[in-house]
Amino acid sequence: MTKRDYYEILGVSRNASIDEIKSAYRRLALKYHPDRVPENQKKEAEEKFKEISEAYAVLSDPEKRANYDRFGHAGIDQQYTAEDIFRSADFSEFSDIFGGTSFADLFSEFFGGSIFGRRERRSPHRGSDLQTHISITLEDAFYGTNKEITYYRAKVCSTCSGTGAKPGSKPVRCPLCKGRGVISEGSFFFSIQRTCPECKGKGTIIRDRCRTCSGRGLVRERQTLKIKIPAGIISGTSLRVRGKGNESTDGPAGDLYVIVAIEPDEKFERRGDDLYMRIEIPYPVAVFGGKIKVNTIDRAVKMKIPAGCKDGQVFKLKGFGMPHLNSTHRGDLYVSISIFVPQKTSSSEKKILEDYMDEMKKNHPDLFKDIS
Ligand SMILES: [Zn+2]
Ligand SMILES: [Zn+2]
Repeated sequence: MTKRDYYEILGVSRNASIDEIKSAYRRLALKYHPDRVPENQKKEAEEKFKEISEAYAVLSDPEKRANYDRFGHAGIDQQYTAEDIFRSADFSEFSDIFGGTSFADLFSEFFGGSIFGRRERRSPHRGSDLQTHISITLEDAFYGTNKEITYYRAKVCSTCSGTGAKPGSKPVRCPLCKGRGVISEGSFFFSIQRTCPECKGKGTIIRDRCRTCSGRGLVRERQTLKIKIPAGIISGTSLRVRGKGNESTDGPAGDLYVIVAIEPDEKFERRGDDLYMRIEIPYPVAVFGGKIKVNTIDRAVKMKIPAGCKDGQVFKLKGFGMPHLNSTHRGDLYVSISIFVPQKTSSSEKKILEDYMDEMKKNHPDLFKDIS
């Protein structure tokens, strides 16, 4: 249903002052008070009265009015419940019209009921969202991949097409609410509408239940789905697959959220788009320098080691990191050098090292002064 403009309802201009809004409401409240109209016009007057009261409640509150001015009804309906709107509204000066009962007291009776048709009968119920996890390798995250996932979700029963009734039978009109889905309880000049407890608001009940789904209209089914994982994905990313959550018998299906975890990699550590790795080189190569082969995540490249390379020295290979999600940009690869120290030496290695040490003691005596 299309809601009318609040200013139009009260018959005031968009820049009306609070006093103009108050007097417009007073005039209309007197006119449409359900106790002041003939019996045959009561129903219509009630609707009008609700409409003007809601318009007044919003426009008399500076914050709500500002929201309404900016976003229209969406700014109100999505932000506030009927209770929010009326709790904070000041109706105190109209108590004469309400016969001594304050408006807030009056309305508090109705909270929980459907006062303004915000809870529409048989409004579609969206199926609930589901969540599942998958883990991928760093390589998968680098290239992007397609993964098959299997999970369980509620699906509309194919035997009864979701009605819950045995094939050949039909749901029948709920005897309690006469198919309206709501029941009314009279109170003062409004009637509170409650969801029918018999049919839970559906308006129909099932006499002969479908055997497949026991009358629920839904069955739990194994679902297999191919998920496209984009290159550059970050661990913990949640991918939404629309409409692949639980189905509903009276509304759209919910969504599926696939949370992607990237397994730790033996060779690379990832920080953002950059990768880090360690390469061990022999001591003479560190001294003389040389070229080493580096197996980056996608190909082998040669990297120059300068003479006199230190243990722990880090070299950057620009553009050899992870791809940035949805972009052609790539992070960098940082190669940290560690110098290989043998645990065991052969007799000739030992001999050479001893000679080397003697020679070194002569050239770098400071290095040996604290070593015994
Ligand atoms: Zn069924
Ligand atoms: Zn019912």
